[in-house]
Amino acid sequence: MAASVKVAVRVRPFNSRETSRDAKCVIQMQGSSTCIWNPKQPKEAAKNFSFDYSYWSHSTEDDPAFTSQRQVYLDIGEEMLLHAFEGYNVCIFAYGQTGAGKSYTMMGKQEPGQQGIIPQMCEDLFKRTSENTDPDLSYSVEVSYMEIYCERVRDLLNPKSKGALRVREHPIMGPYVEDLSKLAVTSYADIRDLMDAGNKARTVAATNMNETSSRSHAVFTIVFTQRRRDQLTSLDTEKVSKVSLVDLAGSERADSSGAKGVRLKEGANINKSLTTLGKVISALAEMQNSKRRKSEFIPYRDSVLTWILKENLGGNSRTAMIAALSPADINYEETLSTLRYADRAKQIRCNAVINEDPNARLIRELKEEVNRLRDLLLSQGLSRLITAPAAEVNNNRMGVTLMPADPASNGAPPTSAPVPGEGPASESDPASLDGHGQLEEFQGEMITNEEAVERLKETEKIMAELNETWEEKLRKTESIRLERESILAEMGVSIKEDGGTVGVFSPKGTPHLVNLNEDPLMSECLLYYIKEGVTRVGQKDVDIKLSGQFIKEQHCVFYSYINQNGEVAGI
Ligand code: ADP
Ligand code: MG
Repeated sequence: MAASVKVAVRVRPFNSRETSRDAKCVIQMQGSSTCIWNPKQPKEAAKNFSFDYSYWSHSTEDDPAFTSQRQVYLDIGEEMLLHAFEGYNVCIFAYGQTGAGKSYTMMGKQEPGQQGIIPQMCEDLFKRTSENTDPDLSYSVEVSYMEIYCERVRDLLNPKSKGALRVREHPIMGPYVEDLSKLAVTSYADIRDLMDAGNKARTVAATNMNETSSRSHAVFTIVFTQRRRDQLTSLDTEKVSKVSLVDLAGSERADSSGAKGVRLKEGANINKSLTTLGKVISALAEMQNSKRRKSEFIPYRDSVLTWILKENLGGNSRTAMIAALSPADINYEETLSTLRYADRAKQIRCNAVINEDPNARLIRELKEEVNRLRDLLLSQGLSRLITAPAAEVNNNRMGVTLMPADPASNGAPPTSAPVPGEGPASESDPASLDGHGQLEEFQGEMITNEEAVERLKETEKIMAELNETWEEKLRKTESIRLERESILAEMGVSIKEDGGTVGVFSPKGTPHLVNLNEDPLMSECLLYYIKEGVTRVGQKDVDIKLSGQFIKEQHCVFYSYINQNGEVAGI
């Protein structure tokens, strides 16, 4: 069904810097509308915007107009969760300048009442599924967590996946991130641990690479499958919903922070995803107005972010956007630009459909594709390029992970099917890809034998993944968890005895180091114990392993003394 993107704006309290500088609040809200004044032009009329929700979080709980984390969840998170239960894909993304409250709204803090949409939604999801008493209804949940930094995708849950993952577009599957781990979870605690691990991985990477966290996009994805058994026919039907929760990079322009060199390049790349997002939103809004619909070109493939979120933006999804606003006069320009951005997003309409039995259909289509590719290669006398027979896919399984198929490419020949394995930046005409290899027509498209083999491999890989049982997925998840923890342990990051990560709760009595980061979500996320006796810190043969340009092989040493009472007496 066609539904508009839900748009909310939210204004946070002054931060200490703004308070100390005696900042003025330039935002006012009434009902669902938001007003902004130009502090430099006090005579100018205020600009008015109206949204689905205007959230006043500038004051405190005792103000009747105040909007709490809970209320934001109840309005937006819960609605989207209910859509996920109906079988729709859903997406919530947070937009706004650095420090405006995106992460606070999405993740929040661990303290009671301060949790953001993502943890509340995950908790609610498991609360609702655990209340189910229907024996014919079962659920499975898988999550992934990735970061997009400078147009590169990083898996935050799999420590083995170093470097960037490839974004691919399969003619049947649509865009997806190759080799991104999707971990099976059975409780809210599982998800919470994964979020924590992902945030740690993000922090470690940001610290090592000297990156600014505010420059990366974080995408947390839940694949929620509901399976119903029909007692009469013994047939299973499935509904699959992909829930994408996105904390975008800061929307401020690179030049406003005086970026130079690497930072500037970085800024340009971040801007590539954000500007493309802006262009996509504008193009989609335009399309609504002009009623020309399909004919309009939407530049999804110009950036990794928009490519991955393609369905969520203009396609099969119920989508909400929360724009985080700074209240302060000094941020007037950025805040106004955020409001305009949000205003445009209101016009987008998405055509969400319930994903009923997408796996059965996908598997059928993938099988057909495999057969066609094999026939093509066989007809070329290239049977040696074909590996083992295509895996027989058992569709009657729980916990199947999928990207939804692009409805536009549903069964139809992929007229503009991109070359698998090509990044958005280097998209090229398939026919001009390389000199060697004979060109053959495949589904109205010219492809070389190499490309046919590549596509065959890709399709078979996707099918193998679909074929995994829930038990296999759980085993994989567990082994990745062990790896993740051993890597953290090797770095000297503390983990609890039961294997859980310590998080931000400082252990009493044991001296420790904590990381500091300008991003409050990442600050104090890593904790290193100083043990009794000698603790060495550096790059090589050490207890606490740090990496980075300025870290020496043996950087420094801590000595910790214990007195007769067993207390730490000095370092
Ligand atoms: P962003 O992710 O947009 O860069 P953050 O979410 O990290 O910004 O917010 C910056 C700071 O402001 C954090 O310390 C956060 O806790 C605080 N903050 C943001 N929004 C709110 C809010 N609605 N209520 C209370 N504190 C907030
Ligand atoms: Mg943030």
